Amino acid sequence: MSGLNLQARWVLPADQLPIERGVVSIRAGHIVSVGPPVHLGAVHDLGDVVLLPGLINAHTHLEFSLIGKPLGRPGMALPDWIRLVLGERKGARREPSQAIRAGLEESLRLGVTTVGEIATVSAGSYGQGDDGLPSLTLFDEVIGFSEARVDSVLAAATGRLTACLERPSVRCSPGLSPHAPYTVHPRLLDGLIELANTHQLPVAMHLAESLEEIRLLIHGDGAFRELLDERSMWDATAIRTGTCVLDYLVQLARAPRCLVVHGNYLNKREVDYLARHHDRMTVVYCPRTHAYFGHGVYPLAAMLDAGVRVALGTDSRASSPDLSLLAELREVARSHSGIPPAQIVRLGTLAGAWALGLREFTGSITPGKWANLTAIPCDSRCKDPYAAVLEGERAPMATWLGGELVHCRSS
Ligand SMILES: [Zn+2]
Repeated sequence: MSGLNLQARWVLPADQLPIERGVVSIRAGHIVSVGPPVHLGAVHDLGDVVLLPGLINAHTHLEFSLIGKPLGRPGMALPDWIRLVLGERKGARREPSQAIRAGLEESLRLGVTTVGEIATVSAGSYGQGDDGLPSLTLFDEVIGFSEARVDSVLAAATGRLTACLERPSVRCSPGLSPHAPYTVHPRLLDGLIELANTHQLPVAMHLAESLEEIRLLIHGDGAFRELLDERSMWDATAIRTGTCVLDYLVQLARAPRCLVVHGNYLNKREVDYLARHHDRMTVVYCPRTHAYFGHGVYPLAAMLDAGVRVALGTDSRASSPDLSLLAELREVARSHSGIPPAQIVRLGTLAGAWALGLREFTGSITPGKWANLTAIPCDSRCKDPYAAVLEGERAPMATWLGGELVHCRSS
């Protein structure tokens, strides 16, 4: 494969300071150098853009990518929204692979080159081989709340994983997703974590997402209990009175790597626990989804100050208007004014790569990593590339995957 040298008004590598009129050199799909212009041969000048690492969406559900607007209404209770999601899934007229394809293509247009996906269908629905689509960690969603179903659900998940491991793919790597405390029996969670350890897989679980969930854990009642009763799913052995989020964190910390999705209602003890286990645990904050449900102020600064790893996700189009990780970065900049811009950019790049176990391959413009890049337009006199990325409204102009141009918008 021939080489490529891309010059930009600004290069923002994410693991070092921005470089004005920087050049990124690419050979055989990988970055070989990044720095000021030197004698490199032919250089392709991208003009007035900020060149960033491809963005990393650490949490989504692509099966809902054809939903035109978020389900329900802003501020609604999570259990009510889940009823709508279940109805949407039941009434879906199209194959999930169509929505998934649309979501992957939308991701590339929005500068996202790596996705942490909660999968309810097999890897085959995510495209074949290395066909110019984002890299994926496919977290197989597992649900089983009643003790009676634990063994059969675990056996089925093991079977799906075995089938997946028999067909290894460079673009898609497997993970496991015990869905949430209100859908997964602790014994099933135990079994899934054991499975993750056997195969060294990452685990992603929705946790501390709503006050209704916290209430169910502590008291065993409330709106989630009603939802479970309605569906004849309640099992008193699954949640004992006085359970707390920390009980789940302790379980999850046994996995080789774990993503705690949302974490909207973590208390100080839980934040400290996550900080102490930052060698394997990451919280995934979904800013616009958080805002859609009207949750309380997200304790992002407190988490970062404590040393918790935080990555960002869009969640699905059932609670977010699109799959733009860039819009999530901008939402963080708007709603958490004390956090330095360089740190915000790292939440959507390096932190996501680390969470998915891909830090040696992606997440920054660093020699040796995949040449996954995105370019965001800026002014010709731009002196602050972070402001161009975080304060503007401009969409990515181009995206590269392994040095191949996979999206280009004429402006
Ligand atoms: Zn989710």
